[in-house]
Amino acid sequence: MPYRTSFIPKGMAGLNLNAPYRGFWKCSPRNIWRRAMVRVRLCAKEKRMFRRLSIVAASLLAITAAQGQAQNAQRQAERDLFAKIVEIPTVEGQTAEFKKLTGLLSAEFRKAGITDIVVKDHDGTQTLIARWPAAKPSGKKPILLMAHMDVVAAKESDWKYPPFKFREEDGYYLGRGSNDNKAGLTGIVLALQYLRAEKFQNTRDIIVLFTGDEETSGNSARRAATEWRSLIDAEFALNSDAGGGSVFPDGRVEGFGMQIAEKTYADYKLTAINRGGHSSAPRPDNAIYALANALTAVERHRFTPMINDATRATYEALSKGDSGQYGELVRRFLANPTDRETADLLEAMDSGSTRTRCVATMLSGGHAPNALPQKAEANVNCRIFPGVKIEEVRQQLQALAGPDVTVTAVEGSQTPETAPTPLRADITEAYKAAVATRFKDAPVMPFQSAGATDGAFLRANGIPVYGFGGLWGIVGAREGAHGLDERVWAEGFHGQVPIWMEMLRRVAG
Ligand SMILES: [Zn+2]
Repeated sequence: MPYRTSFIPKGMAGLNLNAPYRGFWKCSPRNIWRRAMVRVRLCAKEKRMFRRLSIVAASLLAITAAQGQAQNAQRQAERDLFAKIVEIPTVEGQTAEFKKLTGLLSAEFRKAGITDIVVKDHDGTQTLIARWPAAKPSGKKPILLMAHMDVVAAKESDWKYPPFKFREEDGYYLGRGSNDNKAGLTGIVLALQYLRAEKFQNTRDIIVLFTGDEETSGNSARRAATEWRSLIDAEFALNSDAGGGSVFPDGRVEGFGMQIAEKTYADYKLTAINRGGHSSAPRPDNAIYALANALTAVERHRFTPMINDATRATYEALSKGDSGQYGELVRRFLANPTDRETADLLEAMDSGSTRTRCVATMLSGGHAPNALPQKAEANVNCRIFPGVKIEEVRQQLQALAGPDVTVTAVEGSQTPETAPTPLRADITEAYKAAVATRFKDAPVMPFQSAGATDGAFLRANGIPVYGFGGLWGIVGAREGAHGLDERVWAEGFHGQVPIWMEMLRRVAG
């Protein structure tokens, strides 16, 4: 029963409570505790000693119990706040729900004494910007903490439980958005509340940016980085949507990720137009065949392998821990990133990490079963490696598609083209130290996202963004972000808060 050891008050741990009772003893304080327990008669000296020890022990036990109760109450309060946040269905188009959430979050900030709060009402959603001014200004620029309030839509009939009803099961908290990104968002709120309560003397302003359309248009982040720049301008940003750790089921930590780069998102339309005609008289020119051939060419194409600071850092970290075949491949790629064969093998295992990738995602064509098609159209979605232009990819797709198909970039679909955020030793070290409060010696791994986050809009406008998170999940466990039965590891949810606090002490203290 190892948990019992914590009930032995300090200073009494040396007493051997398990020593066999022998029945005879002299009047001495030795083994007094045990003797008292077995209700033997005590001599006067022993009685005095026992009374004194009892008082000390009782007060220590009371303190331990009170601490335990306080911890339980704190955990319950954190869970309650998280439940409220998850149960507000902040899905695209539900403007009233965003108002509810910004109202709730504003009240939480005010409760902690953070009163400089701006809520922007825009594009059918809302954005919340809150500022905690420096207690002891050092002249350093503010730091920005990021999360998004919106969640991907969820079809209730497909879920095991209603997606916007918070629940706990098997050590997980369930609900749409629990993982992406409401856990990170709640973690930021809690960390700031606790730091305020302990009178943390921040030497620079801490600004919070909670966006309302990360999963869709990215207007919040785009506007924040430009029109609302004076409200969020910072030396750098920590994005909770792009950090966090993974822990093996046996408790060993795998590492914590720090996103420093993102691929560019872009959609392209492939269109084949034809004069059509009667399907009883087929001709060699046919819009559907032309489009199908173009798509096959796109499928077969391999873009040029590339590497940058972010992917190199990831591969270096991975190669260190792997003496097997995968590690060998990674080392070969690091030695020669233009080696296509090696890059292809890596790409087969970790899709999107070595180059630009494009894939057909939508298809339409023809207008009647008995007519030659006048039009066929497909959407090709590309995730472009940093450093490659959206227009360059369009030209390559056009060359692949041939003259019968026109390739155009879909207006408004793109995220900005951004270069990786330069690695900073002080930030990486602070991240490591913050994580070490829970996981000693856990590695921090810089990485590049194949997907896009709000970070891109800030990077594109000159604010360095580092993915940071104290949250962790279990290696290999399904978490359902964007998908079904989304959930977050409860231990990781609560455990993230002290990690955020330590990070803020280090970068803003
Ligand atoms: Zn997200």
